[in-house]
Amino acid sequence: MPVPLLDLSQQHDALRPQIDDKVLEVMRSGKFILGQYVEEFEQKLASYHNAKHAIGVSSGTDALLLSLMALGIQPGDEVITTPFTFFATAGSIARLGAVPVFIDIDPKTFNLEHQNIEAAITHKTKAIMPVHLFGLPANMGPIMDIAKKHNLKVVEDAAQSIGALYTDKMACTLGDCGCLSFYPSKNLSCMGDAGAIVTNDDDLAAKLRQLRNHGMDGEYKYINIGGNFRIDAIQAAILSIKLDQLDAWTNKRIMHAHRYNRHLEDIAVATPHEYEYRKHVFNQYTIRVHGGARDALLNHLNANGIGARVYYPYPLHTEPCFEYLKYNPGSVPNSEQAATEVLSLPVYPELTRQQQDEVIACIKDFFLSE
Ligand SMILES: *Cc1c(COP(=O)(O)O)cnc(C)c1O
Repeated sequence: MPVPLLDLSQQHDALRPQIDDKVLEVMRSGKFILGQYVEEFEQKLASYHNAKHAIGVSSGTDALLLSLMALGIQPGDEVITTPFTFFATAGSIARLGAVPVFIDIDPKTFNLEHQNIEAAITHKTKAIMPVHLFGLPANMGPIMDIAKKHNLKVVEDAAQSIGALYTDKMACTLGDCGCLSFYPSKNLSCMGDAGAIVTNDDDLAAKLRQLRNHGMDGEYKYINIGGNFRIDAIQAAILSIKLDQLDAWTNKRIMHAHRYNRHLEDIAVATPHEYEYRKHVFNQYTIRVHGGARDALLNHLNANGIGARVYYPYPLHTEPCFEYLKYNPGSVPNSEQAATEVLSLPVYPELTRQQQDEVIACIKDFFLSE
């Protein structure tokens, strides 16, 4: 039986009557742009985070872009981030004419290594953009200390980490703001594209809301140059229903992850690191395969119908579009090594014990027959 990397059909089948009714209701209401369904979702999302504000936007990518715009990032400003992430993290910086400054990761967590930050700060540095990769919060305590000391803004890329905790604080509420994605592969997903920004800063929230709607403040009064970054009302309505299930789904992801940990203990792979004070929500369950065997294991799993995948095969400083930044190979060695060793396994909530056993057996079979 094939085991996909992700299967949303069961999740949606279970909620189908509720979602179908709600989508029809929105369609009949004629309230398609902002309005009641968006406000309802934003309030629910803010209260889920124990935060003052949540602003629904068109995607996770736009959440990042809009956050940097609202924080006043200008062409030539430098934003420190990780090269071991999805493209949009650095893409959003570069689209504003600002400069993504890639620093290396902590090889244990795959997250930005805070000890590398201060050496990268110049008079042009304006912000830090940590990514809570795979669902594990970056080390936000020291990152915020450095940000305060140097008067830098912090935008959390929490696209993969809704519901994660750092000490007793929700991801998205540690920096100036946090960005969420509801792309179908994320822990809370919609039926298309959507995202959100969470913040406790009243002024920032007001600016985000204004810029999301072209920078308009009052009828045809454009205070700033914004854009159309609005969340779709239908997606907001679907997300309101799905948010109620999120914690139950997250608990299942964690349960699957811990079961993988136990079964892969005596196999030559490194399982994900976890910490008492950081709650990992396992958007991906990512192992590290040493000794150059990653691609062979990936092929073995895929040949046996198991949807394992590499996130991410190329660190961003090696991408053609970032050639102009002139990073040399070897400049961020931990990121480069991670890209050759990581492998993500199916960990979605509805994964059955039998399916998981198949994944485990297939991995064991690979190492035993080597
Ligand atoms: C998914 C993702 C994004 C972008 O979100 P979209 O909703 O697809 O635009 C940004 N950063 C990270 C780390 C992501 O995983």
